[in-house]
Amino acid sequence: MNISILGSTGSIGTQALKVVDDLAGQKEIKVMAITGNSNTLLLEEQARQYKPQVAVVADQKKYTDLKTRLADTSVTVLCGEEGLCRAATLDNVQMVLSSIVGFAGLVPTMKAIEAGKDIALANKETLVTAGALFTDAVKKHKIRLLPVDSEHSAIFQSMHGGSRAELKKILLTASGGPFFGKTTAELKNITKEQALKHPNWSMGAKITVDSATLMNKGLEIIEAKWLFDVDFDDIEVVVHRESIIHSMVEFTDKSIIAQLSLPSMKHPIQYAFTYPQRLPSPDKSVSFSDIATMTFYKPDEETFRCLALAKKAGKMGGIMPTVLNAANEVAVAAFLRDEMGFLDIAEFVEKTMNSYKNKSNPTLEDIIEVDKEIRQ
Ligand code: NDP
Ligand code: MG
Repeated sequence: MNISILGSTGSIGTQALKVVDDLAGQKEIKVMAITGNSNTLLLEEQARQYKPQVAVVADQKKYTDLKTRLADTSVTVLCGEEGLCRAATLDNVQMVLSSIVGFAGLVPTMKAIEAGKDIALANKETLVTAGALFTDAVKKHKIRLLPVDSEHSAIFQSMHGGSRAELKKILLTASGGPFFGKTTAELKNITKEQALKHPNWSMGAKITVDSATLMNKGLEIIEAKWLFDVDFDDIEVVVHRESIIHSMVEFTDKSIIAQLSLPSMKHPIQYAFTYPQRLPSPDKSVSFSDIATMTFYKPDEETFRCLALAKKAGKMGGIMPTVLNAANEVAVAAFLRDEMGFLDIAEFVEKTMNSYKNKSNPTLEDIIEVDKEIRQ
């Protein structure tokens, strides 16, 4: 199989390359394109190791740097959104791993679908902002959409236990993040250093902050709605501190099927790469005697308001999830620059949502326009 990895320099992208290495000898995966935003040093390293056809740096200012670094190789160096779209649509590629962070992944992912590529989807923001257009394109171009987000991979795997008609509800698990059990007063002076320390997962900065605010779980509810075509009322969030059960589905006979594994993104990435097969993995097995206990709680939506706001935007539909997502991306970036407080993230998202009139059935142009407007 030939793949393009959009966002190869990120947390998901680098783990995906490890999976490619792990699978050598069992399933040959040729990496045809790698992309980053600005990390030309790592792009160079990856280009020398994986010898892709194309390497893309999204930030145009870094183009000359990458071009110089790879001057002695046969790798084609490109930049900007045009370069990302080229990486997403190469002729001889069958699968595209969509693992750019945030809205920047939307257009390249849509182009990949239109070019008939199967999608391994890590970038949840694309489904949140353009769910209807995205899923219509998946149907139209008859491609396979394989979830990489661990919860959605777990749901996808658990769904094999029954038919779609037999599904009663989805139980979406959440670790609760680093501030589980804290009160609003205790969250007031949270610093970015505290927010970036996730108890169970090592991830990029944006999703780590989203996990601390529970916006990540809110985005995942919307992601699940589109991936599995379920009503919002049939998706229940369950806080499970240990992150061993990655999500569950309940069927009409009240039987619950779950997927369990140690918290490592290599598992869902590998499953997306090998589906419908399962292949041996060098990762460790779950040891129940080591874990000893598993705990479950209701999420606290009053303290972690981003979760409630995402549900609201999801239920409103139309352009509102785009508004929610853009406001959140802006707020999280400001928080990471120490320009906004932790609790201000929800505040900013809510204010932005309140200042927008909803619009149903937005086009891709509407979505891009509103995203741009909010960033400005
Ligand atoms: P990272 O921040 O670690 O990596 C993001 C990648 O996107 C990097 O390659 C980065 O390049 C690139 N990038 C950033 N901004 C732009 C831009 N404007 N244009 C083009 N490329 C850009 O993020 P993660 O790997 O953590 O997350 C990626 C996606 O996967 C997110 O949507 C996240 O929600 C999702 N996800 C991640 C999980 C995880 O465990 N990390 C789990 C489940 C889902 P550069 O390195 O040069 O900045
Ligand atoms: Mg997840």
